[in-house]
Amino acid sequence: MTELRIAIVGLSVECLIGSPLKTEQADMQIYRGQEMIDGDLWMVRGVLQRLAEDDHVLAVPLMWATALPGGALTSDNYAAIRKETVELLRQNGPFDGVVVINHGALEVDGLTVQPDADFLEAVREAVGPDVPVGASLDLHGHMSPRFIELATVISALRTAPHRDDRQTGYRTTDQLLRVLRTGIKPHISAVTIPILTAGEAAVTTTEPGASLYASLASYDARDGIMEANILVGFAFNDVPWGGMTALVTSDGDAELATSCAQELANDIWQRRHDFVLRMETASVTEGLARLAAATEGPVFVSDSGDNTTAGAPGDLTGILQAMLDLPAPPKAVVAGITAPQLVRKALRAGIGAQIEITLGDEHISLAGTKKVVTGEIINGGEELHLSGFQPYRSVEAAWTAIRFGDIVATFHARPIGITTPEHFDSMGLDRAAFTAFVVKLGYLHPRIEDIAHRHILLLSEGTVSLDLENRDWRHIVRPALPADPDFAWSPGNSTYTG
Ligand SMILES: [Zn+2]
Repeated sequence: MTELRIAIVGLSVECLIGSPLKTEQADMQIYRGQEMIDGDLWMVRGVLQRLAEDDHVLAVPLMWATALPGGALTSDNYAAIRKETVELLRQNGPFDGVVVINHGALEVDGLTVQPDADFLEAVREAVGPDVPVGASLDLHGHMSPRFIELATVISALRTAPHRDDRQTGYRTTDQLLRVLRTGIKPHISAVTIPILTAGEAAVTTTEPGASLYASLASYDARDGIMEANILVGFAFNDVPWGGMTALVTSDGDAELATSCAQELANDIWQRRHDFVLRMETASVTEGLARLAAATEGPVFVSDSGDNTTAGAPGDLTGILQAMLDLPAPPKAVVAGITAPQLVRKALRAGIGAQIEITLGDEHISLAGTKKVVTGEIINGGEELHLSGFQPYRSVEAAWTAIRFGDIVATFHARPIGITTPEHFDSMGLDRAAFTAFVVKLGYLHPRIEDIAHRHILLLSEGTVSLDLENRDWRHIVRPALPADPDFAWSPGNSTYTG
């Protein structure tokens, strides 16, 4: 058997167009060659695992670029990554197949086509039209007719909170190897479903996400079907390619792929009114009152409007200010506030020093109340090194932890996603000493979810406010829920095929 050479590339960033910060070159984490093998990287590791299982297959990891969710990529940043990807594919080819690991909610300043499709276009520029290309995606992304024309097979995550990155990379690669070994010509059909929903209303641990995602296995098992996938979309972005997507790949039968994709789209549309928040949810005032009354911890509280893992800047101090105003605040950590000037000031003052600061001074995403407070600097450093598996970065920017009575707040020079217990441990915070943890998340990330006794999602303000009904939609295809009142819909006019 001849050896198959499979290239691995990708540009995986969830971009929030409404963020006042752009994602620049300095914000990227770029892994090249051996770094992609050594790094135990999100999504990449499942691709490598599947390639390693076959004799006569050579994995050629070239480059994977990622970043914490944030604003749109600057055009310079995107152009450099696109160019290097094309060059690496050309210089190291020829390849029998390519795996592309993207997110699906990439946005780039000034680009008017779906950016993830444009990145696939770059891959095609390098390898030509005939080399099979597998795309591995997050489920919070979008799809477009061009993407489907350019991809040979597609797999997306099937859990939110995301616990199946390995399986997803594995499935993409498994489909790609099947194409290469058998010579089949897969057919992909997709349906855009006009539903805009926050990820928090479409988790796979509660309805309707749980049963819709569970149903995918029954589609996969049908004769002639390779995979069915659902993309929830990224509704915070008002883009022409917005909405949910039902996506079915057959091993060649176009009609079968289309009928299955439309059936799946209808299944989703039937449940359109069920995409609501089912976790414990409260206004800021009510949620903090419940928190103050809680006797058993750890209680995790999400400042959902400023969720950095959905691309928000993390700059808002409203929840910290409200907690400091509570008559009897709980022993709490308020973690992950972006405040570069405050961090510099604290690091200059040193651990043990008292510091007077004005909360609200560094708000960039929303004007807010200011509050002057004095606290004690209890820890900090130029870098924050995180142990354990990290879905984003293992080394974070300069930071400080400041104590205000029973509350400790952590401030960071750059946006950070507090997604693992190691984030607290690495800042020297004894988790057992606190009953409450405020984090800038929406739903809890898996390893936080695993340790939480209780979760309260605060409907706070910010760039990713969960109030989607009252947004001023200008670019999405109308009608769409919840921007428009309920309407009749069938998948016919929203179906496209590759
Ligand atoms: Zn996601």
